[in-house]
Amino acid sequence: MILTAGSANLDFVVRVPHIAAPGETVLGSDTVLMPGGKGANQAVAAARAGGKVAFLGALGNDAFADMLLGSLSDSAVDTRHVRRVAAPTGAAYISVAENGENAITVAPGANNYLRPGDLPELHEATHLLLQLEIPLETVSAYASAARAAGVQVVLNAAPACALDTALLACVDILIVNEGELRALQGAVCTDGDLEELTAAVLARGPGTVVVTLGARGCFARSGQKTHRIPAYPVKVIDTTGAGDTFVGVMSTWLAQGAALPEALQAASAGAALTCTRAGAQPSMPGRQEILRLLA
Ligand code: ADP
Repeated sequence: MILTAGSANLDFVVRVPHIAAPGETVLGSDTVLMPGGKGANQAVAAARAGGKVAFLGALGNDAFADMLLGSLSDSAVDTRHVRRVAAPTGAAYISVAENGENAITVAPGANNYLRPGDLPELHEATHLLLQLEIPLETVSAYASAARAAGVQVVLNAAPACALDTALLACVDILIVNEGELRALQGAVCTDGDLEELTAAVLARGPGTVVVTLGARGCFARSGQKTHRIPAYPVKVIDTTGAGDTFVGVMSTWLAQGAALPEALQAASAGAALTCTRAGAQPSMPGRQEILRLLA
């Protein structure tokens, strides 16, 4: 079982002619409500890909929470570990302009209340999947508990953040995009190519680092061994959710015993399929669709 511990947000998306300047009011389209948050997105991606997945997150006691729980359950994610806290459910207010620019305000709300003590017993879990949209102290405590219990720790270090070596030392598989890779090294190492940067990160603890490169695919390093996987050529409609799909599908394949190159190939296929449709969770593929693209 993959336990995904992280954020869940309700996204309020409005199309606007242009992004409002400070003090300006613009009239937009009808609001589109979409489930989001990296934790919930990755849980959904992993479950649709055929993984046995449970979600640990904090939601408020409001109607938004019920909508998010519904979207997780619809994808067969086990929600029994979700905490309900006395804070509003996380929300993101997203304006998308006609020229493609966007402006996003996130109100983390309940996500900030997921505490180190909320971690359930780990005996059912083989993998713990984490991101950085909940308090860093909580991420570190969960990673350390999982390491002690012999559970594989997969950390998607997003959004970009400098990380200390104590956390990295508890991570088995680190997954980042290029900007996040540079940020997590802080002032230590902001230059250098992928070969150098990934070698420097592995020296701080993780057994494997995977770097996603958008339309250029991904690069991974395990010890001295490196892998480069090109992106699948697809007709791109909207890349929202591609990164989360990649992480979720990779985790499912690994949890089912696949070797790293095979898991990366499946993740690339899943992420490419997400790019062919609009939205994050609604565009995530099922297992059969991934297998068809892999065949
Ligand atoms: P993030 O959104 O987290 O920065 P990336 O942009 O690196 O993530 O994308 C994650 C993965 O999604 C890539 O490694 C690739 O497999 C896939 N992907 C992203 N953009 C495209 C694209 N234009 N065509 C095909 N696959 C893509």
